[in-house]
Amino acid sequence: MWKARAFYNARKRIGAELAREAGVDADVIIPVPDSGVPAALGYATEAGIPFELGIIRNHYVGRTFIEPTDQIRHLGVKLKHNANRAHIQGKRVILVDDSIVRGTTSTKIVEMVRAAGAKEVHMRIASPPTTYSCFYGVDTPRRDKLLASQMDVEAMTKFIGADSLAFVSIDGMYRAMNHPEGRDSDNPGFCDACFTGDYPIPLTDFTDGTSDDRVSVLAE
Ligand code: SF4
Repeated sequence: MWKARAFYNARKRIGAELAREAGVDADVIIPVPDSGVPAALGYATEAGIPFELGIIRNHYVGRTFIEPTDQIRHLGVKLKHNANRAHIQGKRVILVDDSIVRGTTSTKIVEMVRAAGAKEVHMRIASPPTTYSCFYGVDTPRRDKLLASQMDVEAMTKFIGADSLAFVSIDGMYRAMNHPEGRDSDNPGFCDACFTGDYPIPLTDFTDGTSDDRVSVLAE
């Protein structure tokens, strides 16, 4: 069983993988709080770029991607985060977050960091693109609401308004979780269905055959 410290260290190692796979010149690494903090620390250490808490989070506002309407989600992001201009103005910034779900938070955060005077804004994500819904308990939206199921990385970069966007690879994520050879597709060892569509427990409410059939049903 993984303990909290093991998760924290794995997230840092994913950040280091991300720095190796998708490095870019920058002046400062800023996590999207709180989810991006361990990966941003790992990225900053690996890249040798200073880490700063350039975005402050208000802990009295809840998660935004499960709010019922776009308007409330956008307001939630605005209430939840404040940019710390002292660490941003005139700088090439790498933002690190753990995932992109609908893209609401990323879009608002990029906009906020640009408004605080960033010269460049590069987004780095410490998971592969989330392209499938979770049916095992994590409250993700329908598949057609997941940004990465609708767009490739180039289109997502434009959508969120960043200068560049990159996700850690699925093999990079597994390497960070002590699988040096990357993902073993015959026996991944973890559920990774939201990235691969490879659901380890059949979705009996939906399935009528192959994985593709399930996916098309789930997209409706
Ligand atoms: S890894 Fe599996 S259990 Fe976890 S969020 Fe993705 S689909 Fe759900």
